[in-house]
Amino acid sequence: MTFDEAALCESLRNNISKSGYVKPTPVQKHGIPIISAGRDLMACAQTGSGKTAAFLLPILQQLMVGGVAASCFSETQEPEAIIVAPTRELINQIYLEARKFAHGTCVRPVVVYGGVSTGYQIREILRGCNVLCGTPGRLLDMIGRGKVGLSKVRYLVLDEADRMLDMGFEPDMRRLVGSPGMPSKENRQTLMFSATYPEDIQRMAADFLKADYLFLA
Ligand code: AMP
Repeated sequence: MTFDEAALCESLRNNISKSGYVKPTPVQKHGIPIISAGRDLMACAQTGSGKTAAFLLPILQQLMVGGVAASCFSETQEPEAIIVAPTRELINQIYLEARKFAHGTCVRPVVVYGGVSTGYQIREILRGCNVLCGTPGRLLDMIGRGKVGLSKVRYLVLDEADRMLDMGFEPDMRRLVGSPGMPSKENRQTLMFSATYPEDIQRMAADFLKADYLFLA
């Protein structure tokens, strides 16, 4: 698969070439068709493999085709995609990549992470939020405060899942996936990325992904 063969809309193709990406990396080449086909995916991929664009591009494409909720002030925002990563640095990189690819489209990404006050992040969410990127604890905080509703979630991405477990985020991840309103795994598309594939990640994949999920290494 080339980026041209990925059947992406014009604004996404323009944003890809503006980023200087010419040729898809292996995880993009193999991952994008799987995700575009609507399948759940467990991918073993390291930082630096290009995994961020591998999940962002098909998600953004589907959101543009399927339409997103209008980005306007409302007391609770209902994002169509939730992306979770363990650290502020990682989630911020994902957010910046999402913003770059979503530039000039109707999709508005927002990022939330702990260690800073919530005021600015809440205002950003309430300005409209289709793709919410966050660290586990701060996402749960925003959901608990009623700023984020989960009933429209179509895509759930758990990035660097092994690091999330190492950092003790398993209870938070399970709370997030089990939060009121979160569509069941049959009614959302779930993508997990992890550098390693130990037993606890396999168990999590079995719990969070549909039984017929694909495995990419
Ligand atoms: P990631 O593994 O997603 O953190 O990406 C690692 C780095 O590779 C980031 O700086 C991306 O901007 C860059 N990158 C991702 N995909 C491509 C590509 N197809 N061509 C060139 N650079 C890329």
